[in-house]
Amino acid sequence: MQLRELGWNAFFENQFERYRNQNYSPMRIIRENREKYIACSEAGELRCEISGKYRFDTTGKANFPAVGDWVAGTVRPGEMKATIHALLSRKSAFSRKVAGQITDEQVVAANIDTIFIVTGLDLNYNLRRIERYLAMAWNSGATPVIILNKSDLCPDAETRKREVESIAFGVDICTLSAAQNIGLEFLNNYISPGATVAFLGSSGVGKSTIINSLIGTNKLKVNEVSDLGSRGRHTTTHRELLVLPNGGIVIDTPGMRELQVWGDEEGLKQVFDDIEELASNCRFKNCSHENEPGCAIVEALNNGTLDPGRLESFYKLKKEFSYVADRQTMKASAIEKERWKKISKIQKIYSRDYKDKL
Ligand code: GDP
Ligand code: ZN
Repeated sequence: MQLRELGWNAFFENQFERYRNQNYSPMRIIRENREKYIACSEAGELRCEISGKYRFDTTGKANFPAVGDWVAGTVRPGEMKATIHALLSRKSAFSRKVAGQITDEQVVAANIDTIFIVTGLDLNYNLRRIERYLAMAWNSGATPVIILNKSDLCPDAETRKREVESIAFGVDICTLSAAQNIGLEFLNNYISPGATVAFLGSSGVGKSTIINSLIGTNKLKVNEVSDLGSRGRHTTTHRELLVLPNGGIVIDTPGMRELQVWGDEEGLKQVFDDIEELASNCRFKNCSHENEPGCAIVEALNNGTLDPGRLESFYKLKKEFSYVADRQTMKASAIEKERWKKISKIQKIYSRDYKDKL
């Protein structure tokens, strides 16, 4: 396997310079399980562990290797094993908060160029969910692209597409039918040798079907979603990073597949419906629940019916989500600016050429 086929490029090459004389080799993580790793290198697939010094020097889960990461390691060729000594900086990182008391960040997948957000044009279709996935994708540093799958089940797929356009400013969107093999060639705009893509979306939207058609086999087990609302289980034991026959790299980790269990603002409302309910009883609609008269939240805190810890965690989550949403808006407007720059450049060339012809 050539490193370039695995996604190696100048960005990583430059970082690797300082390890050259240490007899380290570059390798990309293709699977991780409780700090046991499988990496792909020029020498082939290697079973890896991190060095004691790495572990000792590293704080925070996010600084440990994840699927898609490039690391520097020493290879023991006879055994096809390696020791990981350093993590190269990431171009992008899709992460989640680790559940529990400490809000630690865990990287689910690293160095993704394009994140395909997959939605089914059936009962799964939900603009709010697409917004949430978009926020997560922007936040990772990868570029999101929206796939509206199962177009065969939707008589007005184009209307849906326009609807999605209205909430996903500057994002590429396509409708396709993976099952009927219609429109999949659109993905080739993003899949090329050395480029890494990943698929994000709820269970049953057709991610495996799409990936299978890219691989050209039925390597991934496709869920049989027989009746409405049922959720199939995925029992994949494959590598979580694979190189496609025609070039291009797909990352498919359970961490990205099982996203529907994460909290979101909609979920937030559901989880904290008591607080929403209380807030609706405040005298002022825009009450900040600090010192306004007639504040139902303050009253509930005072008479002990609302736990201050609960209110605090509600605020914390809300803030986290507005931060993500802000990043999305910022990045979207930057892209829009870039797009207008390009358009005005084209216009200039166009009008110049046009003048020449006069
Ligand atoms: P995943 O959970 O996102 O990986 O979804 P799967 O690829 O396992 O697909 C779930 C179900 O949807 C399977 O029964 C597929 O055959 C079906 N499916 C996938 N793509 C399409 C499509 O374009 N049209 C229709 N009608 N069904 C599809
Ligand atoms: Zn209030």
